Amino acid sequence: MPRAGCGRDTPDVATLQLFNTLSGKVEPLTPVGTPDLRMYCCGPTVYNYGHIGNFRTFLHVDLLRRVLLQFGLTVQHVMNITDVDDKIIRNATAANIPINQYTAKYEQAFFEDLTALNIQLPEHIARATECIPEMVALIQQLAAKDIAYRTEDGSWYFRLARDPEYGKLSKKDLENITDGARVDLDEYEKDAARDFALWKATKPGETSWETPIGPGRPGWHIECSAMATKFLGQSFDLHAGGEDLMFPHHENEIAQSECASGHPFARHWMHVRFLLVEGRKMSKSEGNFYTLRDLLLKGYRASAIRFLLLSVPYCNQMNFTFDGLTESTNAIDRLRTFAKRIKTGTFPQGRDESIAAATIKAEHDYTAALANDLNTAEARAAIFDLVRAANTAADHGTLHTENAAEILRVLTLFDAVFAVLEDHDADLTRAALAWAEREGRLDQAAPELLATLALSDADIDALVAERTQAKKTRNFARADAIRNDLLAKGILIEDSKDGVRWKRK
Ligand code: AMP
Ligand code: ZN
Repeated sequence: MPRAGCGRDTPDVATLQLFNTLSGKVEPLTPVGTPDLRMYCCGPTVYNYGHIGNFRTFLHVDLLRRVLLQFGLTVQHVMNITDVDDKIIRNATAANIPINQYTAKYEQAFFEDLTALNIQLPEHIARATECIPEMVALIQQLAAKDIAYRTEDGSWYFRLARDPEYGKLSKKDLENITDGARVDLDEYEKDAARDFALWKATKPGETSWETPIGPGRPGWHIECSAMATKFLGQSFDLHAGGEDLMFPHHENEIAQSECASGHPFARHWMHVRFLLVEGRKMSKSEGNFYTLRDLLLKGYRASAIRFLLLSVPYCNQMNFTFDGLTESTNAIDRLRTFAKRIKTGTFPQGRDESIAAATIKAEHDYTAALANDLNTAEARAAIFDLVRAANTAADHGTLHTENAAEILRVLTLFDAVFAVLEDHDADLTRAALAWAEREGRLDQAAPELLATLALSDADIDALVAERTQAKKTRNFARADAIRNDLLAKGILIEDSKDGVRWKRK
């Protein structure tokens, strides 16, 4: 008979309690009005390769999505791709190519990076350049209420003085809003409360669209308002993004959307705090950034990067270090070795009560931690407590077959969210090397990596088997030569009670 907490396919159905930037409180996140939880996450601006700070945000949104699914909800998740903005136009013009040709390369790279980091694709991907009519319609709605106004050059602005609720998300003190003071850059001064651009008039040589409000291109904020509404309706459950987007981007989204529709826009707002390097935000402009590809070429694994970036809860800033990345690699090795032991080990029939209790506790603590504002650090700790207890039990012969089945079920729950147990790392690194070769960047790859990857898993299995055979026939010179040769190529052979294992360092 399965016991409480064991033997089911899903954990106790929990309700996620999530901090809401808008209310300033931790609140239950549940769908309103439709069975699906409707969520929108601001996506990338595809003007270059994303850095791992950007991916920290996308990873925590992926984690949120996976937790909601695990807690029994269905989701409608939308992410935009900003494929027109000042930087894109500037770079495409410098390269003398159309903007869509310029962005295609970085959009493809972005999706490759999502796949490498095991980030699930949202239900809807919305490209800004494919939603221009919806943006224009929204500006027309605001114009009809005299909240949007046109300037002499043909640009359109949002009249901030008409929105008494402006500032309610970021809680900034914005009392001195000067009627008519404007800003038309996509990159804002930090605390400026100014009328912001909804539509930018065509400048010579720039990409533009002919529309009923005149020729031009959309401002950044209107993109997200229009795309969220297109796929999710005027009111929906959750809007997410990095903490830098809270002001002015999200504040402006709320202003535009709520002034146009008269209804609340997103009910719940989630902001992922920054990834830092030596105390400063990782960013392109600071020059202190690493892309996923930089790290793969240095020999770090995609799974370790995922695990590291998820290890600190989204509501805390996190400092990136290479030591942290090495620890994360070791943690994944421990988990994978443990999962293999539980799956393939031979255990006595039956069930040990004490390890069964530890398994139930781990499942409970894991679920409770995630339900409590996505506390990934505690969820991780709950699983590592189980690994420790179960390894000790297995060493002492007290772990039984039923315990192994129950532990495996908890590991499966854990991995449906953290998604690090399946090992695709060598393939991903190979793909990164192939990309570096195409881009002429192979000189950035660690030499050891090139040697390691020249060997396939099957080659290594064959050499390890040959070494085992050599040991049996007491040909220790050959056995040592194989071990040393593999070690020089970054492959570590480990002799254990359960047999011989190898891993790429
Ligand atoms: P961008 O492509 O610059 O529009 O950014 C994509 C996403 O990454 C946005 O949600 C940003 O808020 C987020 N982001 C940018 N830098 C960081 C960072 N250092 N840490 C966490 N998130 C970031
Ligand atoms: Zn946005």
